[in-house]
Amino acid sequence: PIYVANPERYKTMKYKRCGRSGVQLSRLSLGLWQNFGAVDSVANARAMLRKAFDLGINHFDLANNYGPNFGSAEITYGTIHKQDFAPYRDELFIASKAGYDMWPGPFGIGGSRKYLVSSCDQSLKRTGLEYFDVFYHHCMDPETPIEETMQALDYIVRSGRALYVGISNYQPAQTKKAVDILKSLGTPLLIHQPRYNMFDRWIEDGLTDVLKTEGVGSIVFSPLAQGVLTNKYLNGIPADSRAARPELIYLNNKDITPEKLAKVQQLNAIAESRGQSLAQMAIAWTLHNEAVTTCLIGASRPSQIEDSVAALNNLEFSADDIAKIDAIIR
Ligand code: NDP
Repeated sequence: PIYVANPERYKTMKYKRCGRSGVQLSRLSLGLWQNFGAVDSVANARAMLRKAFDLGINHFDLANNYGPNFGSAEITYGTIHKQDFAPYRDELFIASKAGYDMWPGPFGIGGSRKYLVSSCDQSLKRTGLEYFDVFYHHCMDPETPIEETMQALDYIVRSGRALYVGISNYQPAQTKKAVDILKSLGTPLLIHQPRYNMFDRWIEDGLTDVLKTEGVGSIVFSPLAQGVLTNKYLNGIPADSRAARPELIYLNNKDITPEKLAKVQQLNAIAESRGQSLAQMAIAWTLHNEAVTTCLIGASRPSQIEDSVAALNNLEFSADDIAKIDAIIR
């Protein structure tokens, strides 16, 4: 069946300008880190991408190593893009990244120009796209001069492989350095991608100040702490949850401690008093930070995307709510 996008998609979603740039991103973005790999159902992946776009999400986030196995999320996306989204290419903002471990040997990891440019070419091939809207360095590489990495990003833009550049997981001081170097090269830093959620507030300690001063946008990942900031783990680990899947090694039952669950229980009560699910409150909480452009959600089924987007129905936090939440997560 040929896909026709929902004509109402721009009416309900909210959009925000990404730093001091011309780009406006939907307040929620969809990440393809998990549930879009070779081990997952393409039909479900397709249903999730359609659901997201139909709800006004205009930004999809990939990386070279999303899967499992590495590269397979880009292949899945490429297949679906060709079938469903090719006519909508100019309405979409699509990201990929390189930085973490990707292929064997010293050229398949790190921050060298050699790695970034060849990995970007591989990602373009896997997705079948002509260019990425934004290409990221995925994590700092202390052993490569930051100048080389930024020159590689600048080159990726100048050679037509991407329109904008981003960095992910960079600490505040390195972020400032990256901003300065990229400015001098004439390719300003569009966006930073850090983790941010009620259990991990590190960006409030210096990073958001740099981003606001320098006019750089931000896209925050794991807003639900991979699902822990929802009500799903309150009565054990459901069989269809991320923590129950042994191949998804980044979240397991050791991360879901009784101390954490006690906090989740209290946060859940606040969410209920706001007329929201905890997932919705957790997303709204990240968007409440003025340095945050868009909240990068993951999903394992289309209904979660619908549920998460409904967080936009209540983004306001009273001083009382904020104080209560702070007391729980401090
Ligand atoms: P989240 O914290 O949003 O976790 C997503 C998971 O939570 C889902 O897979 C699902 O898990 C569960 N979930 C989602 N929505 C709901 C809902 N409404 N109600 C209940 N449960 C829900 O984000 P991720 O950790 O998945 O990260 C999001 C994206 O961020 C990634 O896809 C990637 O693009 C990016 N990222 C970037 C990193 C970087 O270094 N730059 C690192 C990590 C992620 P379940 O399977 O249990 O249903």
